[in-house]
Amino acid sequence: MSVRRFHPFLYGTPVLTPLGRRQGAPCLLHLASRAFTVHSIPIQQPSSLHWEAGAPPEHSGNPTQESPLMILADLHNHTKYSHGGNSPAEMYAAAQAKGLEIIGFTEHSPRPLGFDYTNEYRDKLTRHLPDYASEVLALKAANANGPCRVLFGMEMDWLEGQLDFTLASCAAYDFDYLLGSVHFIGQWGFDDGSEPWKGMSQEECEIQYTRYFEIWERMLASGLFNIAAHPDLVKIFSVEQFHVWLTKPESQALVRRGLAALRQSGMSMEISSAGLRKACREIYPAPPIMVMAAEMDLPISFASDAHVTDDVGYGFARLASYARAFGFKEYTVFDRGQRNVYPI
Ligand SMILES: [Zn+2]
Ligand SMILES: [Zn+2]
Repeated sequence: MSVRRFHPFLYGTPVLTPLGRRQGAPCLLHLASRAFTVHSIPIQQPSSLHWEAGAPPEHSGNPTQESPLMILADLHNHTKYSHGGNSPAEMYAAAQAKGLEIIGFTEHSPRPLGFDYTNEYRDKLTRHLPDYASEVLALKAANANGPCRVLFGMEMDWLEGQLDFTLASCAAYDFDYLLGSVHFIGQWGFDDGSEPWKGMSQEECEIQYTRYFEIWERMLASGLFNIAAHPDLVKIFSVEQFHVWLTKPESQALVRRGLAALRQSGMSMEISSAGLRKACREIYPAPPIMVMAAEMDLPISFASDAHVTDDVGYGFARLASYARAFGFKEYTVFDRGQRNVYPI
């Protein structure tokens, strides 16, 4: 049986728990359609936890597979309060309908002036942030015992030279967890549209990839966030060029430095289906980064980055297959800073 190792000093005690356990929910062991044994962190606790599972859940995946693939937590979801299309309640209902047992709300945090998208939603987001918080917290309270629990998070930007702003944003509410994202290279929102990328040579693209991953490393090393969202977002509009860059040893060394910072900060790496819906048509992160993450035994989390109800839990069977193909067998959920681990 494979053993996934995480940071003992960051990770604490074995934390593989049935979903809902921390909230005193009714027994939810039905979530596991098979008996499983997981070795977690080798400190002062039994070295393994074993549960006999009950009947498979209805949403347990392809019935032709011997071992159903399951991801029951989507930790990256937006609402109509930024550029999404649905209310928290509507997103929650979609998560419940799709059989998820945890939905994490991670609305964008308003950015400071000077960091702008073409269709900037700063004013709307700032005005409605209290609504976002109160609605998500109400959903969380109302569904504390499941069957689908709610986590209250935020997607934070790492903006160069804006540390004080970011610190204040992180402390604005008592979040369950925070996503750390790089959407800006300098003051350029590089994922805001394909136009700036169209005329770029391979060399010009590579300059941007390098800048992105240098910024990414600083974001990861800040220690402010729990999950590294869409790790290679920078490939969004130039995926072919990105893969050329990623074959180079110096590129891989740069990415690896970021992953080491991620590990050092006790974070997990998001595996996101959002890229499948974008121009790159590829999961974030790309296979070479998955290989590095697997070699480093990094914790992972799953996300759809949904902005509308249809995309909640999007492509999760594919994400599970993808992760398992690189040897991952567990994924992480952060809940008020505590890391819980569940089988894929
Ligand atoms: Zn993002
Ligand atoms: Zn997002």
